[in-house]
Amino acid sequence: MNLKNNIEKILQQTQNKECRLIAVSKTKPVSAILSAYQEGVRDFGENKVQELVEKQPALPQDIRWHMIGHLQRNKVKFIVPFVHLIHGVDSFKLLKEINKQGKKINRVIPCLLQIYIAEEESKFGFSKEELYTMLKDPAMETLQHVKIKGLMGMATFTQNQEQIRKEFSNLKDLFETLKGGPYNNPNFTMEELSMGMSGDYLIALEEGSTMIRVGSAIFGER
Ligand SMILES: *Cc1c(COP(=O)(O)O)cnc(C)c1O
Repeated sequence: MNLKNNIEKILQQTQNKECRLIAVSKTKPVSAILSAYQEGVRDFGENKVQELVEKQPALPQDIRWHMIGHLQRNKVKFIVPFVHLIHGVDSFKLLKEINKQGKKINRVIPCLLQIYIAEEESKFGFSKEELYTMLKDPAMETLQHVKIKGLMGMATFTQNQEQIRKEFSNLKDLFETLKGGPYNNPNFTMEELSMGMSGDYLIALEEGSTMIRVGSAIFGER
């Protein structure tokens, strides 16, 4: 495992694409994150609040921290002071809590809405119906301390490349529909499409991802 080569390879693959690499550092020590930082990586993703709040103060302050995992409402307050982007907003209740905590510290918190695109039952996220129900709710307009910047999705864990491609492509379609749709306002813009992990980021790139979340292909197996 050669971290430098891994990062260089992925950056080459994203060249000429409007896509940012998020290095997913969950379970990896501060020293590994520093090594990636020294290779120029500034965006890191974690999926546990506890781990994120422990690592953040121990590392350079210009790191942009991405909360990529399922976020419990009672833990939102711990990350709102510094988080760069919350990828996994999967319920209206969670969005409201983020807004509430953002308001307390007078910060607008950038968020992505997680959309359920996979076949597996266990994955978190809004269905299309749930999404539109939320977007039509007048309470949406009162949330002044969250800024929805796009969508996030996870494809089915499968070897079937065509299925993965189809799931990403469905998400991209939804992204484009919302971009041109009636919900657009300063607090709801479609700029970021977070999709693609170690096993499927090349497909995600082809399908229009603007953020790939790559862990094991950089840091090795967990
Ligand atoms: C762990 C994780 C990743 C990265 O997974 P790899 O397969 O190691 O690249 C990406 N997104 C989310 C939401 C994750 O939890």
